[in-house]
Amino acid sequence: MSEFSIIQQYFNRPCQETDLGIGDDAALISVPQGYQLAISTDMLVSGTHFFPDTAANHIGWKAMAVNISDMAAMGAEAKWATLSIALPEANPAWLNQFSAGLFACAEQFGVSVIGGDTTRGPLNISLQIMGIIPRDQALTRHGAQLGDEIWHSGYLGHAAQALKYLQSNQSCPANLLSALHRPQPRIQLGIALRTIAHSAIDISDGLLADLGHILEASALGAEIAWPNIAHQLKAPTEDNYAMVLSGGDDYELCFTAPPSAHEQIVAIGQTLGLPLSCIGHTCQPPGIRVLDAQQQAITLQGKGYDHFKN
Ligand code: ADP
Ligand code: MG
Repeated sequence: MSEFSIIQQYFNRPCQETDLGIGDDAALISVPQGYQLAISTDMLVSGTHFFPDTAANHIGWKAMAVNISDMAAMGAEAKWATLSIALPEANPAWLNQFSAGLFACAEQFGVSVIGGDTTRGPLNISLQIMGIIPRDQALTRHGAQLGDEIWHSGYLGHAAQALKYLQSNQSCPANLLSALHRPQPRIQLGIALRTIAHSAIDISDGLLADLGHILEASALGAEIAWPNIAHQLKAPTEDNYAMVLSGGDDYELCFTAPPSAHEQIVAIGQTLGLPLSCIGHTCQPPGIRVLDAQQQAITLQGKGYDHFKN
């Protein structure tokens, strides 16, 4: 199978809102007036981000979903993606499943694949995502203010729990598996928060690590109430704290907003049918304190996933 026929057969689908799509040396897009272009890229490497035997459909979904999640965290609407993929071989069954998962996610969120690059090599999937956001409305990491409430969407630690089941070869509950394999980027939430939240990030490396990025960029600290975090692990063991507080791969949003926006945010959660939990507030000095139900500080060894930490 030639490189050209792989592209033709698996990756060339009709594009929307695109001036020129796949087939030329570059794609052409137009950013509507009054909008900014938001661009981000995320790479998935076999053995690092997924088990080599993960179903190709899930890999495709996740490659697209984690990229769209970065648009959600900015409050942007995802529009276009390019796909750079290294494949060890041209395996039609794998490619079929991979592209089905990739385009299922792309279609659900209105993303067009407008180009890419295809080469032979150890399995590596790199997507670039592009979206649009009304000028000056992007949700950034540096916008948090002293006294902001801190929120997260959905449930935390599900993906980490699923990983634990898989690593120990146990059968895993379906809701946890889908959190790991089919994360749902919170695009609608990001859009709803544009003029409300002061800062936002998507939780890819764990709550403490990612909230830590907001706090660092905003020169703030935080106090978090463990009992307010939405998760499904009740036993307060070190292991469970770690899965909820520093488990990766959740792709929920963490954001800060002024207390005056509290009711408005509750209403957004109800409209979207998405749990939104107010888990604490920003404060001084820098650093994150997590308190349990007895107001005792919870301490953890590591803060989040870091590819270059031993
Ligand atoms: P070039 O030699 O100019 O890099 P290629 O032969 O690599 O062009 O790609 C031909 C066209 O197919 C280009 O429009 C490119 O963007 C697109 N393309 C290549 N690989 C992929 C892919 N995996 N997914 C989507 N489009 C792709
Ligand atoms: Mg090329």
